[in-house]
Amino acid sequence: MKGLWFTELQTPVVAFSCRVRQTLHWERTPYQELAVLDTEPFGRMLTLDGVIQTTVGDEFVYHEMITWVALSTHPRPRRVLIIGGGDGGALREVLKHPEVENATLVEIDRRVTEVCRQYLPEIASAFDDPRATVLFEDGIVHVQEHPAAYDVIIIDSTDPVGPAEGLFSADFYRNVYQALREEGLFVAQTESPFFNRELLARIYRDVSGVFPVCRVYLASVPTYPGGLWTFTVGSKRFDPAAVEPRMPQGVTTRYYNPAVHRAAFALPNFVRELIGS
Ligand code: SAM
Repeated sequence: MKGLWFTELQTPVVAFSCRVRQTLHWERTPYQELAVLDTEPFGRMLTLDGVIQTTVGDEFVYHEMITWVALSTHPRPRRVLIIGGGDGGALREVLKHPEVENATLVEIDRRVTEVCRQYLPEIASAFDDPRATVLFEDGIVHVQEHPAAYDVIIIDSTDPVGPAEGLFSADFYRNVYQALREEGLFVAQTESPFFNRELLARIYRDVSGVFPVCRVYLASVPTYPGGLWTFTVGSKRFDPAAVEPRMPQGVTTRYYNPAVHRAAFALPNFVRELIGS
């Protein structure tokens, strides 16, 4: 293989590689090792601790699917919280919704946002929106301190290691329940159904123990391990798999639409078995 290559060890026995034109940025922040690479197949790419977070080439799939399923399920998503998501992609999508009055982004690592604003401006495009509130603090503490504050909570976190570990726990889901208003719902990225089977099964069990409605849905993200990615919803009232998805007029998306919303909840048998539903 000629030239410079980036390789992510997705599991101890599976690797993903792509050719790199240039390393644009590298630093060690107080929380993690942060890099921005210019890759041939996907364009600019953000990595944290050697793990791909987002790329200009395929970010739309993940960012639209982690936001619009919940936004189209809640009839009045006025106050939205994003935990993690320091690249700004989820914030950009949330603020496309005309009924959102305020979107609070709680990112633990200030440098992720600063570097994304510099190198990934098409993803980090909504930070200056007057409806955005950006806080650099721990999302776990934030939900504990904000009861009944949000209609929709989006957990756009790194993998369950380091500062993100607590974002995948039953205690955290209980605090998310408290932080939601009466008809609120949350969505979290919940990793690969191939490589994180036990984690997904545990999350489904934990969320089902806290919320009356729990659903898993899928999207195809080429740069994430296995390509097929899961999201888990916990909802106090509205069932995202049963509602007629409501997209505001004039909003444009590249992956998400109401038909994709409905189809995303059709789970292959191996995923059904995994979550026991
Ligand atoms: N789309 C990405 C993925 O699934 O690979 C996640 C993107 S976003 C960059 C993840 C962010 O979560 C990181 O910037 C990280 O600093 C942040 N994060 C991790 N733990 C956190 C916590 N406890 N509170 C707030 N943010 C956290």
